[in-house]
Amino acid sequence: MQEYEPIIGMEVHAELLTESKMFCGCTAEFGGEPNTRCCPVCLGLPGSLPVINVKAVQYVVKAALALNCSITPNSIFHRKNYFYPDLPKGYQISQYGDTPIGQHGWVQITVNGATKKIAIRRVHLEEDTGKLLHVEGDRSHIDYNRGGVPLMEIVTQNPPPPGLDQIQSAEEAKEYLVRLRAILTYIGVNDGKLEEGSLRCEPNISLRPVGQIEFGVKTELKNLNSFRAVLRGIEYELERQEKVLLKGGKIVHETRRWDDVRGATASMRSKEFEQEYRYFPEPDLTPLRFDAQWVEEQRKALPELPDQRKRRFIEELGIPEYDAEILTDSRPMAEFFEEAVKLSADAKSVSNWMMGDLLRLLNATGTEMEQSKLTPSHLTEMLNLIGKGTISGKIAKTVFEEMFGTGRRASEIVEKLGLTQITDESELIPIINQVLDENPRIVQDVLGGKDKSLAFLVGQTMRYTKGRANPPLVNRLLRERLESRR
Ligand SMILES: [Zn+2]
Repeated sequence: MQEYEPIIGMEVHAELLTESKMFCGCTAEFGGEPNTRCCPVCLGLPGSLPVINVKAVQYVVKAALALNCSITPNSIFHRKNYFYPDLPKGYQISQYGDTPIGQHGWVQITVNGATKKIAIRRVHLEEDTGKLLHVEGDRSHIDYNRGGVPLMEIVTQNPPPPGLDQIQSAEEAKEYLVRLRAILTYIGVNDGKLEEGSLRCEPNISLRPVGQIEFGVKTELKNLNSFRAVLRGIEYELERQEKVLLKGGKIVHETRRWDDVRGATASMRSKEFEQEYRYFPEPDLTPLRFDAQWVEEQRKALPELPDQRKRRFIEELGIPEYDAEILTDSRPMAEFFEEAVKLSADAKSVSNWMMGDLLRLLNATGTEMEQSKLTPSHLTEMLNLIGKGTISGKIAKTVFEEMFGTGRRASEIVEKLGLTQITDESELIPIINQVLDENPRIVQDVLGGKDKSLAFLVGQTMRYTKGRANPPLVNRLLRERLESRR
């Protein structure tokens, strides 16, 4: 049977966290009553002239540098002409051809232990469009608040230049987006909110027979507003294309929309007649000229990036690579970890609790790290209680869940729920005697040399004490009591 290999390209749009829009003074903040954040410039009224938002340019330079790109010394803006109601001017100001602000970069990803450097072709600056709201019947409303918000576009390069890689699975695509988002949020140019659309990704997906050099026909995916959707959407599309090809069919060059509820993609529009955008240099804006020294200053001013932080976690704190990768995937996660380590010095325990119980609870409740009620000092206080023997590791799981859900301190929860560990022999001996009385056969087994059966008796004791008994003490007392019954 013919085998196919996937080739995936990623186009990512990131709204920049500037206060004002790209070419006017209107606020760039998300939301607001429809059409209250507009002016003649972003509405494209005749006679209005755009003025470049310098902050937005600086943000793209920072992002491009963080993505290992080179900065184009002379970068210019273009008009991309097309007629659609979300675009009041009839064109979008963008950057075309070989003059985007940043070029030739890469993002490092690790999937299943394998590291790849994904090639980036370009990082450019443009303006966002307005938003169409389709209402009942055949009517549509338009909100121009988003129109003109600075938008950065980051595009991968397929095939990659020598020494760099391309994305070849849904998991790699997701991981690319995770690391890209980490970088953009670390340097503070984007808020990383996929669900609000301030970070959007449009993968293009194709299959080619293994051994063939030319790419197959690709489809483009839209409406992926979570990491899970990126993963599922691409996986679905790869399977769909493979089925078509194996049956001898042809892939149509088109845009497909991911339906998260149905778990399937559906055709939106065919791309057989590619739009002719008639790009030309924007005559109302001057070219951008980047001074090499200024670019160097921007590079030096970059904060510690996710990969550098990951290295530091591995080398200085002894955290395994896999854990370090996850802990640095988001800035709030990494900062929580660092703060907790500062307070407790036991990096491995902090990491274990974060990788295990914390991630599980965040996922289960759909909570973002930054919204979580749990603080680093809550966690370290609980670790201290375990260290001192006040609570057992098992009880700590209950305490942790309580802390996560209520935001209360561990000591308060332990006291209120009566969860302190039983370390008093006189309190445990009657319980142990009862366990032994109730299980004469197991007692005989253990005395007869079946040491494994002791675990059952330990388990029963823990059950009667609701997990509060100190396990080493239970073990010792059980052995002593058993001996006395010999
Ligand atoms: Zn405006």
